[in-house]
Amino acid sequence: MQTATETKQSPDERGYFGEYGGVFVPPCLEDILLKIKESYLKLKDDPDFRKELRSLYTHYVGRPSPVYYASNLTEEAGGAAIYLKREDLNHTGAHKINHCLGEALLAKRMGKKRLIAETGAGQHGVALATAAAITKLKCSVYMGTVDMKKEHPNVTRMKILGAEVIPVSEGLGTLKEAVDAAFAAYMEDPVNQFYAIGSVVGPDPFPMMVRDFQQTVGIEAREQFLKLTGKLPDNLVACIGGGSNAIGLFSAFLDEPEIDIYGVEPAGIGFKNGQHAATLTMGSPGIIHGFRCYLLQDENGEPSPVHSIASGLDYPGVGPQHSYLKDTGRVQYRTINDAEAVESFFSLSRLEGIIPALESAHAVAFAVKLAGSLERDKTILLNLSGRGDKDIDYIVENFGKEML
Ligand SMILES: *Cc1c(COP(=O)(O)O)cnc(C)c1O
Repeated sequence: MQTATETKQSPDERGYFGEYGGVFVPPCLEDILLKIKESYLKLKDDPDFRKELRSLYTHYVGRPSPVYYASNLTEEAGGAAIYLKREDLNHTGAHKINHCLGEALLAKRMGKKRLIAETGAGQHGVALATAAAITKLKCSVYMGTVDMKKEHPNVTRMKILGAEVIPVSEGLGTLKEAVDAAFAAYMEDPVNQFYAIGSVVGPDPFPMMVRDFQQTVGIEAREQFLKLTGKLPDNLVACIGGGSNAIGLFSAFLDEPEIDIYGVEPAGIGFKNGQHAATLTMGSPGIIHGFRCYLLQDENGEPSPVHSIASGLDYPGVGPQHSYLKDTGRVQYRTINDAEAVESFFSLSRLEGIIPALESAHAVAFAVKLAGSLERDKTILLNLSGRGDKDIDYIVENFGKEML
C-alpha cells in the first residue's frame, strides 16, 4: 500500500490541513489519540501490516475494483466520455470496507478487544461489523431508534455478522445522538476499545488515516485509466458526505494541475436551513466532533439540522482536507439536489444496468451535466462509491408510482 502522507498532502504535526483539522477533545483523550497516531505512523510502513491489509483487499474485498467506460451514459450525456470506478462491486457494496479493514487491523495490532462506532443509515456499521468478524474483534454499534426502524435490513445484517446494535432513543433518535452515546461508551474503556470513525472526519489522526486507507481507490484508478485510455482523466467527480470516497480518488491526482476536480454536495430540497447538507457550499468554519472544518451552524456555533435523500451525505461537517482544498481552489465543490439524484439513480440503472447508491447518484448527476458541457474528446472519471440495493425500498415507497 502506497500512501501520500510524506507528500505535501500531509497535515502538519498538530494535525492541521491549513487552518482545518486539529484536536478539540477533553484532555484525557489527547493522550489516547496520540498513541493511536504513533501506532498508525509506525504500522503504515510495517511490511507485515501492509501485506496483511493488501491481502484482505485482494482476496476478501475483491480489489482492484474495475474502471468501466459507461458508453450508454456517455451517449445520453452527449459530450465527454464518462468512466466509473466501481467501488459498488466491493464486498459489502461500498468503499467503506477499505477503511474499516484498516482501522480494524490497526486496533488489533494495538491490542484492542472491541470496535465501537455509531451509524446513521447502517452502512458504516455493516462494514465495521464485517471487519470485526474477520479480525475476530468484538463490535458495538450505536444507532438512533428512528434510524433503526428506517434501516431495518442493515440492523439485521449487523446482528447476523455478530455485532451488538445498541438503540439510542435520546433526542431525535438519529445520528447525532448515536455519536454522543457511542462516544460515552468509548470513554468508559478507551484502553481496550477503539472508536472506528466512518469518514475523513474527527480529530487528528483520523482524517489522515482514513484518507490513507481509501487512497487505494485513486492509486488503482490512475493505473487502470492510463492502461485503458493511454492518458490521465481530464476531470474527476465524487460525492461528498464526510469526504472519504472523494479524497480516496482525488489524492492520487491532486498534483496534476491540468486535471479539474469536482466534489458534489447534497442540495437536498433547497438552500434554506435544515433542507440541505451542502457544507462547503453554504457553511462557515467551526468546530464539530473534535476538529475544525467548514460547518453548517447556527449563530451559537451549534451544528444545524441537515437533510439529504442520501443518508450517507447527511452530515453538517466535512473533512478538514476538503475544507483546505476548497480554500486553495484545487477542488471545486458543486451541488446536486434530491430530485436530480433520483433521476440519475434511475438513468444509471436503465442505461448501464448498474443501480447506484443514492449518495453516488449525486456524483452521476453532476458528471452527466459536466459531460454535456465538454467536447467529446474529454474524459471524466467518477467514483461510484456504492451500490443502491440499500435504497430500493425507499425508492419504491416514494417514487414507485411515477417510475415503476
Ligand atoms: C457513506 C457513504 C458515502 C459518504 O461518505 P464519504 O465519506 O463522503 O465517502 C458515499 N457513498 C456511499 C455509498 C456511502 O455508503
